[in-house]
Amino acid sequence: MNLIFLGAPGAGKGTLATLLSKEYRIPQISTGDLFRAAVKEGSELGRQVRGIMEKGELVPDSLTVELVKERLSKPDARGGYILDGFPRTVAQADALAEFQKIDAVINFSISDELVIRRLSGRRVCRSCGAIYHIENMPPKVEGTCDRCGGELYIRDDDKIDSIKNRLRVYKEQTEPLIAYYRDRAVLREIDSSKSPQDSLAQIESVLE
Ligand SMILES: [Zn+2]
Repeated sequence: MNLIFLGAPGAGKGTLATLLSKEYRIPQISTGDLFRAAVKEGSELGRQVRGIMEKGELVPDSLTVELVKERLSKPDARGGYILDGFPRTVAQADALAEFQKIDAVINFSISDELVIRRLSGRRVCRSCGAIYHIENMPPKVEGTCDRCGGELYIRDDDKIDSIKNRLRVYKEQTEPLIAYYRDRAVLREIDSSKSPQDSLAQIESVLE
């Protein structure tokens, strides 16, 4: 099954893609991972990506699409895959449609308030990278890692202004894809405001 997970930052797409990928035994493909892998491999595309990322610029659509196309042609993606965080724009969706048939697009719906609460509550350990949440998974001692005693901090991405900015970009660039895929009769909606287990059950039910 060829799947796309669509939704705002903090909606839980990545977590659910990991869960479903294990259950269906299909790869979870995110553009962030593809960029990192290409850079590491040092391929021609990878060198281009590295140059762009070092300048702090966004990887252009054409290059992103090329990397996705290459990844989807690998044998492990023949039986299906989950695209997590791609396409991000209608232009990318059009490009994808030229070489792939998508069976279903899962839209993770969630309120802005909950996104802000989820992301702004996240704390990361400076030493070992462990992730906590002040409401859902608090450390035993505030500001200190349970595992290694390291200092917990808020990543720049998880600061309120940055979250609001990410939500704005999502609404402008990516939200139009909801109507795009609804028009193509592949959109399935789930309410991702509860636990990952609850979202997983909903996804299984809409894919039946
Ligand atoms: Zn730690």
